Amino acid sequence: MKDDQCIFCKIANGEIPSSTIYEDEKFRVFLDLGPAAKGHALVVPKEHYANLAAMPEDLLGEAFCTAKKTVLKMQAAFHPDGFNIVQNNGPVAGQTVFHFHIHVIPRYEDDGQKIGWNPGSLSPEEAAEICAAMKEA
Ligand code: 5GP
Ligand code: ZN
Repeated sequence: MKDDQCIFCKIANGEIPSSTIYEDEKFRVFLDLGPAAKGHALVVPKEHYANLAAMPEDLLGEAFCTAKKTVLKMQAAFHPDGFNIVQNNGPVAGQTVFHFHIHVIPRYEDDGQKIGWNPGSLSPEEAAEICAAMKEA
C-alpha cells in the first residue's frame, strides 16, 4: 500500500534519493534533512501508514527493532552520550509528514538541543479519573 502523494513513500521505496543508513525489504533508515544532531535518522516503513495507530502490530514491533539497530550503529560510529526516540502523531504533536516514522536522535553533551515538555501536576483525584476512563475505554 503506497500513497502517490506521500514523500516518505517515495523516499522509502527509492524513487527519491536519500542518505540511507540501512535498508531491508520492509524499512529504510535515512538521515533527516533537518537534523537535531549529527546522525539524526528516520526509520520509515516502505508501506504507507499515516501514524502509529494505523500500523499493524507486527510491523510496529519490527520498526522499533529497526530503531534499536540504528541506535547500535550510531553508538559504534559516533559514540553519542544518549538518544531520544521521538515518534510524533498528529499536527498538534508536531507530525509534519503523515507517513509513520521513528526519529532516532543521538544526543551529545554540547548539542544545545532540548526535547521535552513543561511538567504539569497530577492530583490523586485526577489520576483516579484518568485511570478509570482509560480502563473503561
Ligand atoms: P515529523 O515532524 O513528521 O515528526 O518529522 C518529519 C521529519 O522529516 C522532519 O524532521 C523533517 O526534517 C524530515 N523531512 C521532511 N522532508 C524530508 C525529506 O524530503 N527528506 C528527508 N531526508 N527528511 C525530510
Ligand atoms: Zn507514505
